[in-house]
Amino acid sequence: MRRWNGWGDSANDYPLKAAGRRFLTQRLGPGRPLPDATLESALARVPPSRLPEHALISRDPEQRLRHARGQSLGDWLALRAGEPEVFPDAVALPENSEQVRQLLDWARQQNCLVIPYGGGTSVAGHINPPAGERPVLTLSLARMDRLLNLNQESQLATFGAGTPGPALERQLGEHGYRLGHYPQSWELSTVGGWVASRSSGQQSMRYGRIEQLFAGGLLETPDGPLRLPTVPASSAGPDLREMVMGSEGRLGVITEVDVRISRLPAVEQFHVAFAPHWPAAVALVRRMVQERVPVSMLRLSNPQETVTQLTLAGHGLAVGALNRYLALRGNRPDEKCMITFGVTGEAQDCRHALARARRHIRAAGGVLTGQTLGRKWEQARFRSPYLRHGLWSEGYAVDTLETCVDWSRVEDTVAAIEAAIREHAGDGEQAHVFTHLSHLYAQGSSIYTTYVFRCSPDYATTRARWWAMKSAASDAIVAHGGTISHQHGVGRDHAPWLGAEKGPRGMAALGALLAHFDPEQRLNPGCLIADTTDKE
Ligand SMILES: Cc1cc2nc3c(=O)[nH]c(=O)nc-3n(C[C@H](O)[C@H](O)[C@H](O)COP(=O)(O)OP(=O)(O)OC[C@H]3O[C@@H](n4cnc5c(N)ncnc54)[C@H](O)[C@@H]3O)c2cc1C
Repeated sequence: MRRWNGWGDSANDYPLKAAGRRFLTQRLGPGRPLPDATLESALARVPPSRLPEHALISRDPEQRLRHARGQSLGDWLALRAGEPEVFPDAVALPENSEQVRQLLDWARQQNCLVIPYGGGTSVAGHINPPAGERPVLTLSLARMDRLLNLNQESQLATFGAGTPGPALERQLGEHGYRLGHYPQSWELSTVGGWVASRSSGQQSMRYGRIEQLFAGGLLETPDGPLRLPTVPASSAGPDLREMVMGSEGRLGVITEVDVRISRLPAVEQFHVAFAPHWPAAVALVRRMVQERVPVSMLRLSNPQETVTQLTLAGHGLAVGALNRYLALRGNRPDEKCMITFGVTGEAQDCRHALARARRHIRAAGGVLTGQTLGRKWEQARFRSPYLRHGLWSEGYAVDTLETCVDWSRVEDTVAAIEAAIREHAGDGEQAHVFTHLSHLYAQGSSIYTTYVFRCSPDYATTRARWWAMKSAASDAIVAHGGTISHQHGVGRDHAPWLGAEKGPRGMAALGALLAHFDPEQRLNPGCLIADTTDKE
């Protein structure tokens, strides 16, 4: 069963190994676990619903608690403390577009807010009900989880918007196809959520971001349905799909999603190499992507991430041997940077891609270690979110943030984000900060930073320190010309920084678009652009 106050299925765990515990104790001090609230105590805080009964909604307190928060660290702390503060008044689980339509009409009659809910994996406060006079209906797409149509000739598939990653790939795999969109949240996030928050999967270098995969679909707006037709390309004015992608539930409810699919690949392998130091490693991956080496994923970990990943994964022996080898070659082992890359496709194409990748890595003084560590990465790729539990039970909190900048800014931006987090760890505490580049483009790269810190003795201080670190890092991101999000979206948490990126005219245009579809600010207000109505 899905956890109510953490990540994923309660049957799965990822405890911290002894080496990982030692590693964090050395850097941050012994962990300081905070007490977890029980489900019963959290349920006791759910107030009576302000909505009347309706055949398509549930006012059950446990459903309401389970849909009250997403997966940001702020959400995690609120749930672990048993104090999510605001709860939806009801949760709807429609089974088709017609029922979504009925619910939107009913919401208008009730003057309630509507929060479209996919997998609830938002890490930016997208689905948190706002406090206010108007009741809140969370509209979950969980029951709309099926393949509705497969057009093999055009390589298009239509899915119910609530289809999560594993169900989507299973249904396509039965016909010999794959979408290839693998965000780390793949186990729980949904195709509608990917579109609504402009998500990016780990193999975006082969399959593209959701922008390239989303071909069209159906949006139920407060005003009526909007069908986005599937044309391969068009010069007929602005593309309306662009309006829907990243709309974060504010224009309507996406009920059907048409996606571009590919044949299942014959071969897929993941390899790991090590570059001697960060500047050489950044130059290497930039060359690989600018010279279009056809890898399906490419991820470069900085030295801090390299040592952290290898230690937490328990690769101590292999790392010892690697360090001795690097030292023999005149490299400093503590400066090594791990490069994980994938090749996907026909056997011959993979051989060719691998040969080109190897040539680049060797020319940059890198060391190739083959597929062993790559296989381990593949096995753990969707398991790593469970490590949050291992860390939490030892008394450490973990959060991530991300951006994307041009190559000329990558190194300075990484340094500024990491410094901002360290400087704002607060309470005389340290933050252990590390970064990787993934989702690489010829123009620039995404930057993904993780920070681990020891909990304070109480929830309120832990939360305040988290927000101080996150805000300082977000300021650093926009000061360096980065986007406030490359893949996690804006939600409520990143909304204060959106204006720095879009500018006043851009924000006004965005506001006008939202007002056009949703003049009563009924759909997820406060998300993307701060709320201006429901304050009475
Ligand atoms: C451990 C972890 C790892 C992650 N890794 C990645 C990653 O690798 N790449 C990445 O891109 N993201 C990642 N994320 C962030 C998150 O998974 C993505 O933003 C994802 O796209 C959200 O999908 P969801 O179905 O869970 O949407 P939700 O969280 O339910 O909703 C997100 C937003 O979309 C809206 N929405 C959802 N469904 C619909 C719909 N049908 N119609 C209209 N609006 C809708 C909601 O109102 C909300 O504003 C990660 C999150 C976690 C917790």
